Amino acid sequence: MAHSSRETDSHDTLHRRGLMFILSSPSGAGKTTIARKLLAEDTEIAMSVSVTTRPMRAGEVDGKDYYFVDRTEFDRMVEANEFYEWATVFGNSYGTPKAHIRERLKQGGDVLFDIDWQGTQQLHQKAQADVVRVFILPPSLDELRRRLTGRGTDSAEVIAARMDRAQAEISHWDGYDYVVVNDDVEGCFCKVREILAAERMRRTRQTGLIDFVRGLMQG
Ligand code: 5GP
Repeated sequence: MAHSSRETDSHDTLHRRGLMFILSSPSGAGKTTIARKLLAEDTEIAMSVSVTTRPMRAGEVDGKDYYFVDRTEFDRMVEANEFYEWATVFGNSYGTPKAHIRERLKQGGDVLFDIDWQGTQQLHQKAQADVVRVFILPPSLDELRRRLTGRGTDSAEVIAARMDRAQAEISHWDGYDYVVVNDDVEGCFCKVREILAAERMRRTRQTGLIDFVRGLMQG
């Protein structure tokens, strides 16, 4: 008997819409490690690639590290409302482009964002249904100080400034959907993966369900 596509659909292969997975934390709380592990171990998620006017550095690849554009093109994109958010940092402009992300979400791929609370707010305002916000906390300020001091090369002033910035970032913990305390990297990583797995199963994201259930009902 010929298999219809419905018969060969297992629950795991139902089409779903991708999600925008935001990881934020004060520096030193382990966000970068978690993000790297996620990208290495999960093939369905890819880092968001920003657009920038900054000149390409040696070793950077267009379309991988950034999409490099000139000022005229960047200004055109701002005017045309093609960014979820954008900012100017040290004279260069950076923005999160809507088109690439929307295309990826439509195809069922997830996009990872390593951004601060302000960027998180902007993305959430513009793409609420697609956004999942995860905040990573250090187990204590002492531990955070220890991690920020770890390199042993920074002055007391630099470390104090980092601690101030970290505490300011922590004060925005309540703008997130999930909060994970990183007292052990492996444990924290497992929890982040569980959040991602559960969010992928949300009914509203499983766009293949309508056809699947229709097939079920028809026997
Ligand atoms: P760099 O030029 O060293 O790659 O990045 C400079 C700064 O730009 C970093 O602080 C980085 O977080 C920020 N940045 C990179 N992409 C974006 C973006 O899409 N939006 C915003 N608001 N900042 C960005």
